[in-house]
Amino acid sequence: MKVLVIEDEEKTAAYLRTGLQEHGFEVQVATDGIRGAEIALGEGADLVILDVMLPGKDGWSIVSEIRGAGLQTPVLFLTARDGVPDRVRGLELGADDYLVKPFAFSELLARVRSLARRAAPRQDALRIADLVIDPLQRRVTRASKDIDLTPKEYLLLLQFARSPGEILSRKFLAEQVWDIRFESDTNIVEVHVRRLRAKIDDPFVRKLIHTVRGVGYVFEER
Ligand code: CA
Repeated sequence: MKVLVIEDEEKTAAYLRTGLQEHGFEVQVATDGIRGAEIALGEGADLVILDVMLPGKDGWSIVSEIRGAGLQTPVLFLTARDGVPDRVRGLELGADDYLVKPFAFSELLARVRSLARRAAPRQDALRIADLVIDPLQRRVTRASKDIDLTPKEYLLLLQFARSPGEILSRKFLAEQVWDIRFESDTNIVEVHVRRLRAKIDDPFVRKLIHTVRGVGYVFEER
């Protein structure tokens, strides 16, 4: 599930990115309205979180363009103003919901999930062998047993499950899951892969995570 965040305040954008990624969403950030509209109308997103006051193009124009193009992408408006006319205008132009800044992350998450459910009531689960990932409920099972993963373990598993059979380097995983530049002396990826294996592979006969020495890992049923 890809969420496009169009927000020019760097702190808010970073906070949204981190929080949403920790809850299993793929996040793309645009810090100006022109770029944001380009992404929303071009490559698209499953959900858009949209600030009202933006450089280049304001949130109202963007939501009008999205709806004008016939796209049903759910849009959650963020507004720093608590004036009723602003909210009404946003909703009239086609936004699905709004939040007034400052907001609690838990509330934003609840609204994002609610919009996601409405937009994609039957989002497909990812399956590899007897492992099933339900991205909407953030639920993982193997052989029908629930597996409890930390947010980072879950994100790591999602990366694997999205590219089965491909070699994923430690550098790639460090960047995708931790949003950090990879330094070769960090063992953060190894440590988390070990923990993930202990949960999804060790109790089972068929292993899914395979080490490619000196490079990274392959996720597949062998
Ligand atoms: Ca703004």
